[in-house]
Amino acid sequence: MVRKSMKKVVFGTLCSLLMAVSCGCSMLGGGYTSDEPCAWCGNTPTKKFETSKGADCYVCEEHTHECGICGKNFDKELKHYTNMLDIEMFACDDCYDDVQELNN
Ligand SMILES: [Zn+2]
Ligand SMILES: [Zn+2]
Repeated sequence: MVRKSMKKVVFGTLCSLLMAVSCGCSMLGGGYTSDEPCAWCGNTPTKKFETSKGADCYVCEEHTHECGICGKNFDKELKHYTNMLDIEMFACDDCYDDVQELNN
């Protein structure tokens, strides 16, 4: 009886440890887990985005947080659109709205 419950405790501890580890990993990565080079700077890791033509486009965390138009840095992932070079372009709310107006 005693042994059985011990096993349960060990198993439970292992499970919560594993969960903590996988949780920590996903928090660190934030989806930036690809080895493909960033379309803007060639750095890794990157996150996969899709262009308006349905092609894969990989961008690093730095370039999804930096507005490609005004150059400011933000602590969130910015809105993005596909530019003339078929690369996902990240822009802050203000610049994004300007671009949408220009395109319409
Ligand atoms: Zn980059
Ligand atoms: Zn901007």
